[in-house]
Amino acid sequence: MLLARSKLPGRNDECWCGSGLKYKKCHLGNDERMAAMEAEGYWVLPRKLLKTPADIEGIRRSAEVNVGALDYVAEHIGEGVSTAQIDEWVYDYCKQHDAIPADLNYEGFPKSVCTSINEVVCHGIPSEHDVLKSGDIVNVDMSTIKDGYFSDSSRMFCIGTVDPERKRLVDVTYDSVQAGLAAIRPWGLLGDVSRAVNEVATDAGFTVVREFGGHGIGREFHEDPWVGFHEDAGEGCVLVPGLCFTIEPMVNMGKPEIDTSDPNGWTVRTADGQPTAQWEVQVVITNDGYELLSW
Ligand SMILES: [Zn+2]
Repeated sequence: MLLARSKLPGRNDECWCGSGLKYKKCHLGNDERMAAMEAEGYWVLPRKLLKTPADIEGIRRSAEVNVGALDYVAEHIGEGVSTAQIDEWVYDYCKQHDAIPADLNYEGFPKSVCTSINEVVCHGIPSEHDVLKSGDIVNVDMSTIKDGYFSDSSRMFCIGTVDPERKRLVDVTYDSVQAGLAAIRPWGLLGDVSRAVNEVATDAGFTVVREFGGHGIGREFHEDPWVGFHEDAGEGCVLVPGLCFTIEPMVNMGKPEIDTSDPNGWTVRTADGQPTAQWEVQVVITNDGYELLSW
């Protein structure tokens, strides 16, 4: 399938996407529009990144597990819960649903989920020593592989009574992702999404981490495009229907700089020790907008 797609079918041949439709009734129009935009100088990613109907169905099934596991976490998380317990819930949930936690053993990551508390920007490693207490804000970042398809999303949880400014950080970060989603236009540009996210965060007086962003995802854990949150509107790749990626800004209460010196090689903190928040969703661009796959 992948190899065949470098050669486009004839108008009356079956479409490359496996829909069973004739090419002229399926992807011909989009393929012509991609070629035209590329000729105009727009940044058009390779067609092999576009997800077929079968791919999207596979990603949906993977995402069901991802969302279900995070729903389970949402129901059970609270004061006195250790992040090792969250890791166990996620592992068990995946196992019960014939799925694999994508984080486990990914480039040597030792656990099934990332749990990032307060000043931890990302890649916090679950531990029985990290027991959640009132006032903590924690991100649980979950990724699933099911039948070869990847899904990825993360949520923030406020534990007990949280300081209002921290709560505002969590809420503004959520709103920034929603603004990013609202800025998605098929055949628009990724930079429009980046700018919408950034504006909500910075208008609220917060900063956005530069070093990490979202990513394409589907058949691989990390594919193109890279989804940064410092690009300007009118920049970046074209949002061609079939592109699947995450929107996952890391928003800091203080300065945007990060500290990657933790000897475990994973855990990233804010350089100034101020709190940070992140929400992550996964979408696929459609002909008339987008489909939210994981949240
Ligand atoms: Zn097609």
